[in-house]
Parts: sequence; structure tokens; C-alpha cells
Amino acid sequence: MRAMGTGSSVPRKAEAELDSGTAGAIHKHDHEPANATLARMFVERRRRRPLEHAWHEALDSVHQLLTRYEETNHRLAEAEEIYRSLFEGALVGIFRVSADGRPLMVNEFMAKLVGYDDPEQMLAGVRHFGEHVFTDHSEWRDLMLRLQKNGVQYGFEAEMKAADGATKWVLLNIRSIQDGSRIVYYEGTAEDITDRKLAEDRIRLIAYYDSVTGLPNRRLFEERLAESITFAQSKNQRVALLVLELGRFKMINDTFGKVFGDRLLQEIAQRIRTALGEGITIARLGGAEFAIILEDVKALREVQLLAQQMLAVIGAEFSFLGHSFNVSCTMGISMFPEHGRDSHILLERADAAMCSAKDQTANDVQFYSEGIDTQIRVRLRLENGLRLALERNELFLVYQPQVDTRTGGISGLEALLRWQHPEMGLIPPNDFIAVAESSGLIVPIGEWVLRTACMQGRAWQDAGLPAIPIAVNVSAIQLRQQGFCELIRSVLRETGLDPKYLELELTEGLLMTNVDVVFTVIQELRELGVKLTIDDFGTGYSSLNYLRQFKVNRLKIDRSFVREVPKNADDAAITTAIINMAKALNLDVLAEGVENVEQLDFLRAQNCFEIQGYYFSKPMAVDQIAKKLRGSFAS
Ligand code: C2E
Ligand code: MG
Ligand code: MG
Repeated sequence: MRAMGTGSSVPRKAEAELDSGTAGAIHKHDHEPANATLARMFVERRRRRPLEHAWHEALDSVHQLLTRYEETNHRLAEAEEIYRSLFEGALVGIFRVSADGRPLMVNEFMAKLVGYDDPEQMLAGVRHFGEHVFTDHSEWRDLMLRLQKNGVQYGFEAEMKAADGATKWVLLNIRSIQDGSRIVYYEGTAEDITDRKLAEDRIRLIAYYDSVTGLPNRRLFEERLAESITFAQSKNQRVALLVLELGRFKMINDTFGKVFGDRLLQEIAQRIRTALGEGITIARLGGAEFAIILEDVKALREVQLLAQQMLAVIGAEFSFLGHSFNVSCTMGISMFPEHGRDSHILLERADAAMCSAKDQTANDVQFYSEGIDTQIRVRLRLENGLRLALERNELFLVYQPQVDTRTGGISGLEALLRWQHPEMGLIPPNDFIAVAESSGLIVPIGEWVLRTACMQGRAWQDAGLPAIPIAVNVSAIQLRQQGFCELIRSVLRETGLDPKYLELELTEGLLMTNVDVVFTVIQELRELGVKLTIDDFGTGYSSLNYLRQFKVNRLKIDRSFVREVPKNADDAAITTAIINMAKALNLDVLAEGVENVEQLDFLRAQNCFEIQGYYFSKPMAVDQIAKKLRGSFAS
């Protein structure tokens, strides 16, 4: 039976129950008419409906809750997965450490950074994070103090010793987690900055250290000097600044090459370091210049002794790469506070003192004094003037005859350089050759002398004057220039002078350094056919053995020996010995600086017949020489 026309919305299930009479608690009362039953059922249903509704709503809520719970769970799982992945896969080390330094939690990166395969290994292997990780334990303590104060520390750089022994640099960002004032644990990140640190070290090395010797360079030296001065000022102490330069280094470098030069610098740095020990700043300022800072100087004597020690150490024989040789050095010293209160001034003044030492004898030490400033100014003026002297035609040559006393005739001429300075007047070579040498100007000037002398020799011959050799003084720097022999060859070719009329005067000292190279050059010059003389003989240190090897043509006895013969017995003995030695070696011998007849007679008695000196003639201008030559050969 179907409920018709009621328009009611009885649920189908309820209807079916009603149809089948199975509607649970709704029972038909026997005495009731069917419609009454139905009506009652409707009433009943209406009474039950809110309950059903509530039930459904509750179910819905539970369902929704469950769904939300599931979603939350899902999201939590997702979040956990994200955090786990972030933690485990992070490309920085992440750690949590207990208040007493025990690692509680580390990620893979951290474990690897500390030299373990995985976090478990690290947690088992490391008992104290700080003591294990920091090479310098005090750094960890320092870090802890900062954390206690600030709670967080960014960018803390520390050197770490990994479990596998490797040294690494790490950058830590770390914070303390506190419960009130009590630190519960520390946590943070660690980055491997080893590569960056190495790069920084390399940069620092390049910027502050000399690549050849490993010593501090000028930049670092100036910083250290400034620090020493500040410190000395606060303690009322004195500081000495020593600047030293090797003699002839450029020449050695040019002759033997850079590898050899570098090796020499290294050996010298090593010698100074060994002599002075640790704790004293030694620097290479550039080229062949070194500097030393001596702190807390009590007495000048102390500095003098050290300077002498340095000269001895550097002056001792070097023997490497198949060569044995000696180098000289000059040293300038300035003192704080006497000579300046600022590092630049002290350096300038030590340099000035060194230049002054250079102008005097080699192997010398010079303290700064005010007089040196004047010397330096003069020197600078000379150097600047000399740069212009060639182009302004201020240089000229004079010629001094050499006489054969057996015939009385002129056997040769020595070309001697003069400089007519526009304001300073006539300047003798002894006053400017050293400046020309140290500034390198000797190279173009020497070439000019050579060309002018050869041209003049040829011109005299062309003018019908007798052909005699012209001697030209050659500086060590010229001789060691590459292509020196080639220069001689081309000058002879250009001027048309026969090589046998060119004589080169080389000083003894020049021959004794870099013997091998000099030997080769001399050989080549001999093959060219030019004459070679050792000038100022007796003042250097040549050994007989070398003299034999060099195969020069003659020796010129230095003026200093000739000056006091025959009165001075020692000089007489030396002069005689040189003459005899020359004869024994089959060399010609000439005495220079002969001023009087006593000297002449003595020399003749010793069988030295060639002389040069005021006794016969002073150096003369070109036209006077022409007259003299005519006269000499006319008589
Ligand atoms: P030196 O080559 O030993 O030249 C001899 C010097 O002694 C010359 O001085 C000459 O004038 C001087 N002299 C000669 N006889 C006497 C004498 O009887 N008594 C005295 N008191 N002196 C005498 P000068 O011309 O002043 O030259 C000095 C030095 O300068 C030369 O010594 C030489 O080493 C150097 N020099 C001169 N010209 C040149 C040059 O063109 N190139 C180079 N590299 N050096 C040169
Ligand atoms: Mg000479
Ligand atoms: Mg001489």
C-alpha cells in the first residue's frame, strides 16, 4: 500500500518498513484502525526526526574531523618529510650540541665535514664538539663566552681538525637555546670555507710576501715598521732600520740569468734569517734591496755590530749552480726617534745613508746624518744633469799620452772623460762615473766615449799622424751588457779604426766577479784583435791563476803604489813585485801617475819602461794632442 496524496516526504526506507510492518518499535496496536496507526506513526516519526537529524550531523562532524585529522596527519608527514630532507640533505652542516658540548644531532653534511661517514658515526665518535672540532680549544671557549653574552654568534671562523686528520676552516652560525637563564643546548650551522681561506692565504701571500725569497715585501714591511714605531713610542724605546743593497746584482742577473739571480736572493735571505734568528723582521724591498727592523735598541754599538755581522754573512763566498763567487753589499741605517718619527721618513733616510755608503767604498755601513741629505741632493742633481749631458753635448774627451821611456815617444793615449756642467763647471769623472754606473747611464755614455775615441783615433790617422793605440776605460756594467762585443765590432766597423789601435782598460775588481762570463767576453774581444789592459792593478784581488787564464795584454800599476816610490819601501816592493810578475806572465806593464824623475828612475831600474803621468803630460784636449803627436814623432 502506498501513501497517496499526502505529499509527505516519508523516507523510502521508513515507507518500506511501514509496508512490510517491520518498522522497529512502531507496532500496530491491534485495536487501532489502520489509519490511526498510520497517523500515530507519522506523529512518532515527527517526534524521532530531530534525533535522526542530530545523529546525522554528529556523524558528519566525526567524518569531517576524521578527514581533517587525516589531512593534518598528511600535512604533518609532508612537513616532516620536507624538514627531514632539508636537514639530511642540507649543503651546510647542521648540529645541535648539549650545554656540556656533546653532539646531540648532526646532519650528514656535518658528519662528513668532521670526517665521519654518517651522523651515527659522528655521534658515537665525538664526545665534545668544541674540543674535537676546534684546533685551538681556546677558540671554543671564546665562542661559548660570546654566546653566553649575546645568545647568538654569526660568522665565527675557526680552524678545525677533522677525524681523518685534514685541517679545514669552518664558518659557524650558532645560537644558544635557553630555559630561563640556563643554556639547554646550542645549535647552528657550519660551512666549509677551506677553499676560501686558502684563496685568502694565497692572496695575502701574494700581496704581502716576496715570491722569490718568501720574506715580507715592502708593503708588509712598511706596516710592521709603523707598528714597531708606535710600540717603541709607547715604551720610550729606540728602533733601528737597516737597509742593505747587494752590489752588482743587476749585473749578476743580466749575466747569469734570472734563475741564478733568484737563487742568489734566496741564499742571501736564508743567510740573513739564520744569522738574525726568528722574531726580527727581515724584508725584501725589491731588486737587491733588503731591510731589517731592530727593536728596543739600547746602544748604537749594538746596531753597528749587527751591521758588520750582516756584511760578513753576505760577503762570505757563495757556491751554487756551478759557480763560486762573492757579492758585496752596502748598508744604510736610520734610527727612531733620532732620524724621524714616521716610517716613510725613516725608510727614506736609511736609503739615503745607503746611497751615501755606495758612493764611498764598497762593503760599507753608513748611519744617516744631515750631511747625507746634502750629498743625496748633489747626487740627484748630478744624475738629472747627466741624463741631459749627452744630448746637450756637455761631455768631451781629453787624452793623456803614454810614453815609452826607451824611445821617449808616445806609445799610446788614454781617453779620459770630462763633463762641462753649465752651472757646476768642469766635473772630473771620479765625481760622476759612480752616479752614471748606479743609474745605468754609463751604458749610453760609455758607448759615446767608445765611438768618439775610435772616431778621433781614426781622424788623427787620416790627418797623417802616427797610428798609436787609444785606450778607453770600460765600466764593469758595460762589459756585462749583452752584446758588448758586438758593440765594439760595429763601432770599429763604423769608424774604420783597426782593432789593434783600440785598447780597453778593465779594472781588476771587474774581472774578479763572475769570472766565467768575463772570461768568455775577454776571449771574444781578443779574437776581435783589440788590446786589453788591467787598470789600477794591485788594488783588486786577482789571482795569478786568473791572470794567466784571462790573457790580457798588459797591467797598469795603480797610481797609489807609484805615488810614494822609491821612498816608501813597501810600495817599492809591491811595484817591483808587480813588474816582475808581469814579466813572468809575459805581459806588458805600465806605471800610471808618474809625477817626478825619482819615480821614473826607479821604474826604469825595475825594467818598467812604459809610463803615464803628469811628469810627461797631463790629459790634453784634442788639438793639443795633435800638436804633441806631431812634436813627439818629429823629434
Ligand atoms: P784611470 O783610468 O786610472 O785614469 C787615470 C787617472 O789618473 C786620470 O784621472 C788621470 O788624469 C789621472 N792621472 C794621470 N796621471 C796622473 C798623475 O801623474 N798624477 C795624478 N795625480 N793623477 C794622474 P781622471 O781623468 O780624473 O780619471 C779618473 C778615473 O775615472 C779613471 O781612472 C777612470 O777609472 C775613470 N774614467 C775616466 N774616463 C772614463 C771613461 O770614459 N769611462 C769610464 N768607465 N771611466 C772613466
Ligand atoms: Mg784607465
Ligand atoms: Mg788607473
